[in-house]
Amino acid sequence: MAENKKVVMVGIPGVGKTTLLSKMAEIIKNHKKSVSVVSFGTLMFDVAKENGLKDRDGLRKLPISEQQKLQKLAAEKIALRDEDVVIIDTHTFISSVEGYYPGLPEYILKIIQPTNFISVSAKPEEIYNRRMSDNTRNRDKITLANIKKELDAQSGIIASCMVISGSPVKYILNREGKVDEAADKIINAIGL
Ligand code: ATP
Ligand code: MG
Repeated sequence: MAENKKVVMVGIPGVGKTTLLSKMAEIIKNHKKSVSVVSFGTLMFDVAKENGLKDRDGLRKLPISEQQKLQKLAAEKIALRDEDVVIIDTHTFISSVEGYYPGLPEYILKIIQPTNFISVSAKPEEIYNRRMSDNTRNRDKITLANIKKELDAQSGIIASCMVISGSPVKYILNREGKVDEAADKIINAIGL
């Protein structure tokens, strides 16, 4: 199989991953490369829907064993993608009933074999506002203190991901109103 890039983008909810991804996909297509953008959560939800789950934001409330099964199925689908650049929209952890649950445990990393990690962050105040103003989602109740705690958890967990997989991580600050700038930095980091 051709050597393609599997870019895993992580960031806490509302940091701007999906927004950045659309911009990146545009840039990559302009470079005449094939690209696919996969949302890990959506892949999991597609399977969960067949089993009766109605709300995408209900995924993190499923029993952990159920989430683990769905996670593995999603990773196997991602591993089969053969576009030049496959970008995976996901999280280092999911806030579940039982606490933080890893989005990229070792067995998932072994299946996907990411070539690059992009860790997206933003100012806690900006994340707070982005979550509050996004009415398309059914988000959990939030506080600024909790967002700071989540950002700390993210940097700790992404460090273990890069050690397990042996692939580099680029930290990107998604500044307010500067999506284009952040997308360009990511593209430079992946190197097309
Ligand atoms: P989730 O993990 O919950 O899917 P996400 O990281 O994908 O969240 P987005 O849905 O991309 O986050 O962005 C959340 C909101 O923030 C959206 O309303 C988006 O338009 C806005 N946003 C994202 N990046 C920026 C930016 N640099 N400046 C201003 N607004 C932004
Ligand atoms: Mg998103």
